[in-house]
Amino acid sequence: MRRTKIVATLGPASDRPDILDKLIEAGVDVVRLNFSHGTPDDHRQRAVAVRSAAAKAGRYVAILGDLQGPKIRVGKFLEGAVQLQEGEDFVLDPEAVPGQGDEHQVSVDYKDLYRDCRPGDTLLLDDGRLRLSVESIQGRALHTRVLVGGRLSNNKGINRLGGGLTAPALTDKDLQDIKLAAELDLDYLAVSFPRDAADMQCARALLQQAGGNAHLVAKVERAEAVADPDHLNELILASDVIMVARGDLAVEIGDAALMGVQKDLIKRARSLNRVVITATQMMESMIESPVPTRAEVCDVANAVLDGTDAVMLSAETAAGRYPVETVRSMADVITGAEKHHIAKKSTHRINSDFEAGDESIAMAAMYVANHFPRVRAIICQTETGNTALLMSRVRSGMPIYAFARHARTCGRVALYRGVGPVLFQNERLSGVERDERAIAILKEQGVIERGDYVLVSRGYNQDIGGSTDTLRVVQVR
Ligand code: PGA
Ligand code: MN
Repeated sequence: MRRTKIVATLGPASDRPDILDKLIEAGVDVVRLNFSHGTPDDHRQRAVAVRSAAAKAGRYVAILGDLQGPKIRVGKFLEGAVQLQEGEDFVLDPEAVPGQGDEHQVSVDYKDLYRDCRPGDTLLLDDGRLRLSVESIQGRALHTRVLVGGRLSNNKGINRLGGGLTAPALTDKDLQDIKLAAELDLDYLAVSFPRDAADMQCARALLQQAGGNAHLVAKVERAEAVADPDHLNELILASDVIMVARGDLAVEIGDAALMGVQKDLIKRARSLNRVVITATQMMESMIESPVPTRAEVCDVANAVLDGTDAVMLSAETAAGRYPVETVRSMADVITGAEKHHIAKKSTHRINSDFEAGDESIAMAAMYVANHFPRVRAIICQTETGNTALLMSRVRSGMPIYAFARHARTCGRVALYRGVGPVLFQNERLSGVERDERAIAILKEQGVIERGDYVLVSRGYNQDIGGSTDTLRVVQVR
């Protein structure tokens, strides 16, 4: 069983006939609907297609919607794109006529940009491919000099080196897309560019108002989100999942700081009992090539050894030439990296106290799993998936099977490292009978055999989340 999960972004490439089935067969655990591209109907159609393909394959594939957020962008150019030359002047002007950009000036979609910038600032365009230095501010217009030139096309993003662009995290479009997420009953919803815990709380309230059940992902992609450890912890605790959104994050904090921040974010999220996705440019060259580079192979493997729950593909599966090959390569690299002993060792919670009964059971299970070699699997009977989440914060080679009676819980745990969902409807059985039934299911699947040990956790009252109070160490008969 591969433990680290694969998130694949959908788009025109995955809309091609049969590709979705093949992506799922190749191992995609979660699909991402990117609300920055496409119409609501595109997303509706993709959600329906994913659910039917997953059902056909007998798999649980979670759906994550990703809000566009307040990404600040240049407007459109008369000719679709321009070539900026080093040393030349270039003006970013919110009051310029939209659609009339040229090599001297272009409109921007954020009228307060001038408030957040000072002469001497560096602005990065198109994920950092181009650089501008702010020379002066005249009215609302930023007069800049090109530091690193290149081709600049319509609607490319703008970041400020060091962060500090203060556009509020939720735009009018995001409010519409939150309603769409509720309508589509998505498993996860990602908030782009949150500044702090309050941005996440605001998104959560809006989602609840819209009737949505999605768990929230905070995309960590602003310099100020990672600047202060206490502030960062609050942001993580206000979220269910964080994404190391390396595209924008690297542009804001500088490439040199990225690897350290990635390692810190993964560790921090897991020790706060939160889930973490590592994203962006993991297999970038596979947009055009059927094989990854060594650097990409090592990047994916490194994220696995860092302890990430999931690794994410963006344009590779949404718009690339080799979406299926990319998922296959990624799955291979993950499986290889997980054999390394670092992936199986844990010091999680070794020196801290537990906060609840279900957490105590989860930690006890993992202690046994990592110290009793005759154990082959963990059966975690779970209502909300939370006990499986707590277990999977501990590094281990032991598969955790989340036996859940709700399809929603099965979808949710599809993102958790080391956790495999099993839909388990058993309303009339007693506790011990449920254990027996679950053991029989894993035996039928060939996961365990007579003589093996298996750990079984459950609650006295299975209908109530947080009620897990029992751990059994059972020898299979
Ligand atoms: P994006 O987010 O692909 O929506 O920009 C991920 C990132 O910034 O890395
Ligand atoms: Mn981003």
